[in-house]
Amino acid sequence: MTEKLDILPLQEWGLPYSEKPFVIAGPCSAETEEQVIETAIALKKTGRVHVFRAGIWKPRTRPNSFEGVGSKGLPWMQRVKEETGLLTSTEVANVKHVYEALKYGIDILWIGARTSANPFAMQEIADTLKGVDIPVFVKNPITPDLELWVGAIERIRNAGINRVGAIHRGFATYEKTIYRNLPHWQIPIDLKNRIPGLPMLNDPSHITGKSEMIYDLSQQAMDLNFDGLIIESHRNPEEAWSDARQQVTPDELNEILSRLIIRQPVPDNQSVMDELGELRNIINILDDQLLVTLEQRMKVAEKIGRYKKKNNITILQSKRWEDIINKMLEKGKQKGLHEETINAIFKAIHQESINRQTEIMKQKD
Ligand code: PEP
Ligand code: MN
Repeated sequence: MTEKLDILPLQEWGLPYSEKPFVIAGPCSAETEEQVIETAIALKKTGRVHVFRAGIWKPRTRPNSFEGVGSKGLPWMQRVKEETGLLTSTEVANVKHVYEALKYGIDILWIGARTSANPFAMQEIADTLKGVDIPVFVKNPITPDLELWVGAIERIRNAGINRVGAIHRGFATYEKTIYRNLPHWQIPIDLKNRIPGLPMLNDPSHITGKSEMIYDLSQQAMDLNFDGLIIESHRNPEEAWSDARQQVTPDELNEILSRLIIRQPVPDNQSVMDELGELRNIINILDDQLLVTLEQRMKVAEKIGRYKKKNNITILQSKRWEDIINKMLEKGKQKGLHEETINAIFKAIHQESINRQTEIMKQKD
């Protein structure tokens, strides 16, 4: 299913940008006038940044942490624009933020992950934006829920805004992982298929939570054909009042961006196309084989289901499942397959077997 939302491609947003990647950069939070201006001047100098970002109102997990300087930081953003020529952007989470940001000439708004998860807040912001012509980026909601993300974008689009884009900033997880927020790449990919042409940025800062991982993640986003990046950059990350661990200096950002390899989404050369075509044919054949194997496996699972039913045995035998998954993880490792992937695949296969056996149990004899 695709949505017909009639969203303008990024190249037509009238921004001073022509070549990938489109880059928004700046500190997590505006702290002082001096910090904002100094960081912005250094970012402008790189020649690689199109828009300056700074959080004015900060959604913090716990009370009593720094919650942003508030409206007094907005004139600092105006100074950034006057002194560097960079466009400015900030996060808005409620009606007051929208009014204030517009009053001070902020050029691009973004909606944060906690707000896009809340349809009431989204609708209020959308209602406030009716009749305003401003670009808006919508971050993914903190939970891995594609519909919620699509819904938040639709609300903004329905308010008459056709310069709307998405920011992939990863999804919250309780488990300890190398990421601060899990990327779940399939979700932004699905979003792009749902809303073709939707401009999409990646936020490696909030996905990784670590400055040393920003480059790899940014490259991955470029290889998945994202339009651009939003990266936190601070003149002195160690001293940052929020998200210190994930911010990079303007010099480091320059270095990261200069090392990115930007590949073409469609090869322009016929021999590359032919070779790619051959490899894709092989992939198609292997995928067909996978389906045949799955079909065979499910037939056997159904037979087992009938046997269990006849002999009054439960569908799930935890020990058996544990044996399977451990064996597959071990074998997968020998074949160079990631544990996370094997786990996901076999959990899905096992679930399908259980579903089939449940159907059989429910059938009347
Ligand atoms: C931010 O960009 O500073 C921010 C708060 O991001 P998120 O909404 O992704 O947590
Ligand atoms: Mn931040």
